[in-house]
Amino acid sequence: MDHQKIKELISSYHDGELDEAQKKRVERHLEECPECRKEFEEMGKFEEVMSQMELKKPQKEAWQMYWTSVYNRLERGIGWILFSIGAIILLFFGGYKLVEGIIQDASTPLILKIGILSILGGLVVLLVSLLREQLFVRRRERYKEIEK
Ligand SMILES: [Zn+2]
Repeated sequence: MDHQKIKELISSYHDGELDEAQKKRVERHLEECPECRKEFEEMGKFEEVMSQMELKKPQKEAWQMYWTSVYNRLERGIGWILFSIGAIILLFFGGYKLVEGIIQDASTPLILKIGILSILGGLVVLLVSLLREQLFVRRRERYKEIEK
């Protein structure tokens, strides 16, 4: 009996979705496998806490919390996107204005022009990457909070 299969069955077990034969299979495996037994007990605790929370909290309030968090996430996502677009435009336009003179100057060597444009392009990529990282870290922190 492989552990992965049992672990899948464990959550169904707690939900009361298994037939007698499947239950027996899970129970038999749990007797001889401390790893899955630990998972089984933790899952039981988790379900217990969840059902207590559901009992304490009225359904309506739970839904409200859910929608507030969705809205917050959306709001922040849009904020970051707008900020990124603005920053890119500013950087491009500002940077272009700054180097326009150098680029248009016929006496500037081509290699120098390419170098300047690369730096500008690189800055934009770095900025976008930084912003995406910020977004990602925020999301991960939120998951951590949920795990606690
Ligand atoms: Zn196991």
